[in-house]
Amino acid sequence: MRRKLAAGNWKMNGSLAAMAEVRALCEAHPAPTVDILLCPPATLIWPMASMRHDHPLAVGAQDCHAEAKGAHTGDISAAMLKEAGATAVIVGHSERRADHGETSQTVAAKGSAAIANGLLAVVCVGETLEEREAGHTLDVVGTQLADSLPEGANADTLVIAYEPVWAIGTGKVPTLEQIGEVHGYLRAQLADHLPGDADGIRLLYGGSVKGSNAAEIFAVADVDGALVGGASLTAEDFSPIVSALQ
Ligand code: PGA
Repeated sequence: MRRKLAAGNWKMNGSLAAMAEVRALCEAHPAPTVDILLCPPATLIWPMASMRHDHPLAVGAQDCHAEAKGAHTGDISAAMLKEAGATAVIVGHSERRADHGETSQTVAAKGSAAIANGLLAVVCVGETLEEREAGHTLDVVGTQLADSLPEGANADTLVIAYEPVWAIGTGKVPTLEQIGEVHGYLRAQLADHLPGDADGIRLLYGGSVKGSNAAEIFAVADVDGALVGGASLTAEDFSPIVSALQ
């Protein structure tokens, strides 16, 4: 059985004051039966990891560099994130693919570095609205998946997040059929690429998940949780999503 995962991507939001939200989330779910992961900006990884005490909440990063160290101004290596308290890292989010020109090959290298350093790699794939309307969704996500797969990927080291670009931060969500189609396709593709591990690798849906739509999305086959942006910033918004998954 795949353990469900409620993951939050804070993007470039949050501050030390927001640790009160994390405390409230931990208090609302003192013994969660699902995995909870919050990925704040890098500056908040250490404070967040330090304040959760013995709560199982995991803390992750939103990106890492593929190399271990060196002349890469502004970048952070997987080992550094781990030392700061991270146990996971999102790689290949569509905002990084778009804003920083990250290719799937870059994403694979970053994910490989994450896994080599003992971090869970959360690899994101997703089509644009244009690609969906042109009927290319499965081709696009299938190619992204194949090209973004990190070395060392298995059920313990890899999570895939399907995030249609047009659903991120827009309030628009694919139909449950569309989500099911892509998740089923990704599972089948994983079976080709990583036979033996495909059944154990968790597939998250991401894009405008909120308390009001979480339960129906989680009921779709092959959806093992969510990667949540805006609705992960406060305990009030994220807690119902965690509850819907339990
Ligand atoms: P959203 O973002 O939940 O705010 O749509 C999801 C994401 O980008 O991970």
